[in-house]
Amino acid sequence: MKTWVPGAAGSAYDVDNLPYGVFVAAGEQPRVGVRIGDLVLDLAPVAAAAMLEEAHVFEQSTLNPLMGLGKARNDAIRRWIVGLLVEHAGRADVEPHLVPLGDVEMRMPFDVGDYVDFYASEHHASAVGKIFRPEQEPLLPNWKHLPVGYHGRAGTVVPSGTDIVRPMGQRVLPGSTTGSAPAPVFGPSGRLDIEAELGFVVGTGTTLGARVSTAAFADHAFGLVGVNDWSARDIQAWEYVPLGPFLGKSFATSISTWVTPLAALDAAWVDLPGQDPEPLPYLQVDGRAGLDISIEVSVNGHVVSRPPYRSMYWSPAQMLAHLTVNGASVRTGDLWASGTVSGPVPEERGSFLELSWGWREPFAVGDQERLALEDGDEVTLTYTAPGTLGGRIALGEVTGRIVPARP
Ligand code: CA
Repeated sequence: MKTWVPGAAGSAYDVDNLPYGVFVAAGEQPRVGVRIGDLVLDLAPVAAAAMLEEAHVFEQSTLNPLMGLGKARNDAIRRWIVGLLVEHAGRADVEPHLVPLGDVEMRMPFDVGDYVDFYASEHHASAVGKIFRPEQEPLLPNWKHLPVGYHGRAGTVVPSGTDIVRPMGQRVLPGSTTGSAPAPVFGPSGRLDIEAELGFVVGTGTTLGARVSTAAFADHAFGLVGVNDWSARDIQAWEYVPLGPFLGKSFATSISTWVTPLAALDAAWVDLPGQDPEPLPYLQVDGRAGLDISIEVSVNGHVVSRPPYRSMYWSPAQMLAHLTVNGASVRTGDLWASGTVSGPVPEERGSFLELSWGWREPFAVGDQERLALEDGDEVTLTYTAPGTLGGRIALGEVTGRIVPARP
């Protein structure tokens, strides 16, 4: 199976990848495209000419109508696209609709319904426990019985490339007390951080009261996006007790503009690292439930960490089963993220909080040092995984630059 598209065969964007996105060419309406090599295939005119039943979904400014078609129709559309790109017979009809990436602007890929963020890395949760509660067990008693999570803010999920305004808020500075009581002050966050995560988007929703079993994961999950859960640690530290993350998280969450369909990850499934104690029956999984996805965190062009997704304790199927186990329904476009991905060793830590071990040890960013993000810093997360053609595919990258707080 070899594509005729120039430069695509053997690249990270071969026909075993084919991520979807919403693109805009100069002077035209946003439409759904699929990436092949360094080109975007404008699917709307090709589907219309082929009289594809679902052609209308490609004329939209979001992927929601496409994602909502369900797994069977999406699998068929993917086979049709692969056919277009490998069969020489139709090349003359398809090639005029390939647009160089440099000639288009990528938009927010889908309308985010609800957004849930988990905390599924044992290495991350343990590191945070050791940093903040050094005298206690690093993991709290519930952690290995359920995937801990919280509901985030869907309306501030932004596409890769969006500038991140340093948030203002309340925080308690070191030594800032009135008598023995903490005395908060208002101002720009001084401990702005990243969280390198992986996100999953719902294709087929459910009705209120229904639960999604772990075995039904692929019937409901459409695909994957890169996620950077920007976090203001000083705001978070003061506000989170007793109800959890709030304004320290809700100012912005960046996602990739490309959505990788689940089918592209067929060669990336691996065994989970191991779960002990055995989870309750509704959280049990058969076979390979983990994903072998390598993440790279770059700051101003310098790689600072390489978190391995395969080290995650809880699987995406378990996260979806848990978030619907009470009967909460999901909708097309709902997003859930994994939580910070951190591996067991320092160079695999997925946040500055861990890389600096609680703001104590500055780490190198090129020839500079950092504890927290500074204005002007640009963070890029890139993701790769084994593809079904034997090489590696690239998932959507996520980038964002910190701009000064608004006075
Ligand atoms: Ca997070």
